[in-house]
Amino acid sequence: MDGDRLLSAPPLGHGKRLLLGPGPSNVSQRVLDAMRAPMLGHLDPEFLKIQDGIQEMLRGVFRSSGPIVLPVSGTGTAGMECAFANLIEPGDRALVAAAGYFGARMCEVATRCGAVVTKVEAPWGEIVPPARVIDAIKVTKPKVVAVVHAETSTGVLQPVEEIAKAAKDAGALVILDCVTSLGGLPVEIDAWGIDFAYSGSQKCLGAPPGLAPIAVSDRALETIKNRKTPVESFYLDVTLLSQYWDGPRGYHHTAPILLDFALYEALRALEEEGLPARFARHVANHELLVAGLTKLGLELASQEGHRLPMLNAIRVPDGVDEAAVRKKLLDRGIEIGAGLGPLKGKIWRVGLMGESSRKENVETFLAAFAEALGR
Ligand SMILES: *Cc1c(COP(=O)(O)O)cnc(C)c1O
Repeated sequence: MDGDRLLSAPPLGHGKRLLLGPGPSNVSQRVLDAMRAPMLGHLDPEFLKIQDGIQEMLRGVFRSSGPIVLPVSGTGTAGMECAFANLIEPGDRALVAAAGYFGARMCEVATRCGAVVTKVEAPWGEIVPPARVIDAIKVTKPKVVAVVHAETSTGVLQPVEEIAKAAKDAGALVILDCVTSLGGLPVEIDAWGIDFAYSGSQKCLGAPPGLAPIAVSDRALETIKNRKTPVESFYLDVTLLSQYWDGPRGYHHTAPILLDFALYEALRALEEEGLPARFARHVANHELLVAGLTKLGLELASQEGHRLPMLNAIRVPDGVDEAAVRKKLLDRGIEIGAGLGPLKGKIWRVGLMGESSRKENVETFLAAFAEALGR
């Protein structure tokens, strides 16, 4: 009988997790509920209204009045690929400020798009000094300058304004990775003169993974229109994406409808809270965490004065098995992240992003962490 048929896999049965890693972060019930709204076709006038709402709200978060603001279907990395695929033509020079995993990924993506890449590096855990990037802009005269605003692998907040200004003065376009910063700390696309910003839905925006909001400037769009070669990626061609999102709204690809519902609701929640309160909440919970860590005799590994509120890189004390501590936490339903690259085994990464950035969560984490460390 059908009902007795043994299925290849059991029903989903996992428990709740407190997601305090580098992302994804927790999703509120109201955002999860949004994904249970009736399914719509992707050209339904009702869905078009939802698209308009998402774009309007994203503009507010990006602080962008540029010609294109929309969520690309795909995760943050799709946003990164979209930026380079549209702005780079084979042989173009790109300059990347890289002091972590995502800076390195930008170099890889730019190279695959055919760019000749200059990497301005700094040790993981530090900022890339703006003066060094500005010098390199003068020497290499790149078409594109790319910067990671919030380097999730190190917990460092990279200063971008000076770099963006120097790039503009030199006639270069600026790509900004704000995957981890958007919705958690101030991002000012217009005021800073950013030409192509991309983010991800699952960090401080508080939606599930799967969407990469982008904001494109007039200058960037002009450059894209004047390309000698077509954008190699059909899926990530912003001109085609804009025809779907901004009209004439013909078919390009099928939007991930339910994820768009979720982002819509997450952005409404963000508007309700307001950006200043949202940013203050991230700072307050970061400070609460740091105070608790100090009591435990622990310290942050990221450069002082340049620390992210939403991603805390905690130095692993000598003689402590960092993986065993993470395992003990996960047994209690709390997920935190490990170090990557040169920081592997040396730091834990505790994310307090979006919905996860709550006082109760910091307290729950600190108690479990103290116990796991035997302190
Ligand atoms: C998470 C992250 C990405 C990549 O996003 P995915 O959603 O994992 O593809 C890119 N840049 C930064 C800074 C990130 O934190």
